[in-house]
Amino acid sequence: MMTTVLAIHAHPDDIEFQCAGTLLRLAERDVVLHVATMTPGDCGSAEMSAEQISEVRRGEAARAAGLLGAEYHCLEFRDLSIVFDNPSRRRVAECLRTVRPDIVLTAPPVDYMPDHEMTSLLVRDACFNAPIPNYTTGADDPGRPLERIPSLYYVDPIEGVDWFGQPQPAGMIVDVSATFERKLEMLASHESQRAWLLKQHGMDEYLESCRRWAASRGSEIGVAYAEAFRQHLGHPYPGENVLEHLLGEPSG
Ligand SMILES: [Zn+2]
Repeated sequence: MMTTVLAIHAHPDDIEFQCAGTLLRLAERDVVLHVATMTPGDCGSAEMSAEQISEVRRGEAARAAGLLGAEYHCLEFRDLSIVFDNPSRRRVAECLRTVRPDIVLTAPPVDYMPDHEMTSLLVRDACFNAPIPNYTTGADDPGRPLERIPSLYYVDPIEGVDWFGQPQPAGMIVDVSATFERKLEMLASHESQRAWLLKQHGMDEYLESCRRWAASRGSEIGVAYAEAFRQHLGHPYPGENVLEHLLGEPSG
């Protein structure tokens, strides 16, 4: 049986920043990969309308997912508008029932902006709800309930810190030195965002900040580049570290 992995984060490019190196490693295993963003990144431009930039960024996200051999989904929430309410909970649960993941990678509970934190809460909630037979999503052609709660992992917050600047510990650190240049290629697929930051900073800050952070996590385990994760271990989520088994490496 192939393992299905879903990486779901708030905006186009969040997944590439925080876990694409690991996804590229998983792509070398017997794994079916799906990438999902909550929004199409509709606030990510000062020049284009929300509709125009959404179309551009859906295309960029799909191209990046294509480099991974993953299918791309957009849940069509809107930037700065992700909230924890019942319609949102049902939409995320329906995504899980459609993709049917064994492993879910998502945003961390504490991060620099509420879209990320709401995504984390909605995905954690959907992992719990999606197996419950009487929990209905109201979708036109609803997927059947999941057999079980998937294994849930959180990626790093941006710059690895909480609201008070305190470094967040890693539960497991994955060596992505071998896939790091391809991770940057995936990130570079998000041309609209790269160009925006290039204009603002006068340097390729988009790729450089990614390199700095991956090098910092890498230094914790003595490798060039790494990505870190924390597994959700609260009741009744699965506690076995299936991601580590799949990658075949000890935790950092
Ligand atoms: Zn984001």
